[in-house]
Amino acid sequence: MKIEIDKYAGFCFGVTKAIKAAEKNTSSDSKIYCLGKIVHNSMEEKRLQELGLEAVSYEDIPGIKGSKLIIRAHGEPPETYKLLKANDIEIIDETCPVVLNLQKKIRKIYLENKSFQIIIFGKKGHAEVNGLIGQTDGNAKVISSFSEAVNIDMSEPVFLFSQTTSNFDEYKKIENYLMNRSFEIFGNYDNIKVYHTICPSVIKRIPRLEEFCLRQDLVIFVSDFNSSNGKMLYEICKRSNDKSYFITQPDELNKDWFNGIENVGISGATSTPLWLMEKIKNEIEKLLTIKK
Ligand code: SF4
Repeated sequence: MKIEIDKYAGFCFGVTKAIKAAEKNTSSDSKIYCLGKIVHNSMEEKRLQELGLEAVSYEDIPGIKGSKLIIRAHGEPPETYKLLKANDIEIIDETCPVVLNLQKKIRKIYLENKSFQIIIFGKKGHAEVNGLIGQTDGNAKVISSFSEAVNIDMSEPVFLFSQTTSNFDEYKKIENYLMNRSFEIFGNYDNIKVYHTICPSVIKRIPRLEEFCLRQDLVIFVSDFNSSNGKMLYEICKRSNDKSYFITQPDELNKDWFNGIENVGISGATSTPLWLMEKIKNEIEKLLTIKK
């Protein structure tokens, strides 16, 4: 049996950058905090916790006055920066440059077109989405699915953006729908402007993942359940290879899955560490007592 780890899987550069900052700033004698989980992967989170990184919530901020805190790759709304400064907290800002550009773009468009609608396609309550809404002083609307796009009132011009890790196909479907609706109502596309803001790292991964899954007999996809990107990429695995399994850690592997299988592929989300995929590869080898 051949087991291959997808060479394009693993942390994207935004997550890598935030994790490097955490590793650099943690030490055994002082604690460093992160607002929310630095990465949507509980195994990696645990590793960083052992180095001295602690995830905190907004409610915890008054209790950690004067400390150092990482803003993770998802970014934060402007109010968070004010809150941190008011509590004398040193900010290590690891907002991903792709997210930062998107925040700036939304802010600029909002300030220039205050009476227009800003719609964000993304997961309601997700940190990145909250950071984007913050650029519009809370005025942007969030839609999480195509079915919600159908209810958009087109009488006011619409500026449509996407969370960087949203589902590419669904965003395209929403774009086409709104463009067609604009044409049906107004005879032109003047009332709708769509920004292509899904992260290039995520978009590039789609055809690569499809190609990877197609040449495997079975695919093990590793991610946490709460990773938006993980969910989206797993759908691609399933679509390309029916024998795709979603797992979060090695003990979820099932020996029976591998009966009669020659080629096994292991892939993961942009929040899945390479060491975890390697661990899963070793676990499969142990499970099936493959000699290296
Ligand atoms: S997926 Fe893209 S936008 Fe999100 S953290 Fe990674 S590089 Fe940045």
